[in-house]
Amino acid sequence: MASVTFRDVRKAFGSVEVLHGVSIDIEEGQFVVLVGPSGCGKSTLLRMLAGLEHITAGEILIGDRVVNALPPKERDIAMVFQNYALYPHITVAENMGFSLKLKGVSKKEIESLVSPAAEMLGLSHLLDRYPRQLSGGQRQRVAMGRAIVRKPQVFLFDEPLSNLDAKLRVSMRTEIKNLHQRLKTTTVYVTHDQIEAMTMADKIVVMHDGIVAQVGAPLDLYDRPENLFVAGFIGSPA
Ligand code: ADP
Ligand code: MG
Repeated sequence: MASVTFRDVRKAFGSVEVLHGVSIDIEEGQFVVLVGPSGCGKSTLLRMLAGLEHITAGEILIGDRVVNALPPKERDIAMVFQNYALYPHITVAENMGFSLKLKGVSKKEIESLVSPAAEMLGLSHLLDRYPRQLSGGQRQRVAMGRAIVRKPQVFLFDEPLSNLDAKLRVSMRTEIKNLHQRLKTTTVYVTHDQIEAMTMADKIVVMHDGIVAQVGAPLDLYDRPENLFVAGFIGSPA
């Protein structure tokens, strides 16, 4: 577990600045949701934290380490995307252990990490299947399993449920939260869905056009929106 800090972070693509000085404090073990309309800069912020995108100005810290210049591999984080591409030609167990195998972890140790993660995610009976033999929800669980086995300091989720149908989305919210209760890993979760943010977050960061519009616990935002954007966004249907 580690804290995450964004200090006056800016990002420009060419001459266009899309993040205009974003500061966010995330405590160890917290489940923080970044929410805001499409295009406001959520994915870019997450990708900079993951090291997949350069930061134009400011600082990003994981724990007390400034990670601006660290390659992704050295940041000790695991990311679950919306398009959780699994390798089609290998089994669920092999998909879950793949990154460990790349790191040179022994077969026996991989098994000892995959097995409890699979159990936690209800995948134990599916370990020998191939991705094409799984439902959408099961595939999403495999993608989460892949992240869990690495025992990262921080989990990043970028709209992980947006490809699932409405009913599954609701049950997966609960599963992800239960997982967080068990593992207590610091989590940064991106969504454009206010309901998802309200039901899942310890703390919500509302973003708007490359700035932080408001930060607070779900009920605080609901009861005391600080500006019209937050009031409109939190109050409107997804
Ligand atoms: P969100 O995830 O909130 O929908 P993004 O972080 O994907 O928003 O995008 C924020 C802004 O940055 C958008 O205006 C988007 O068009 C722009 N953007 C994102 N990635 C790139 C890129 N690689 N090159 C140029 N502009 C980009
Ligand atoms: Mg995005």
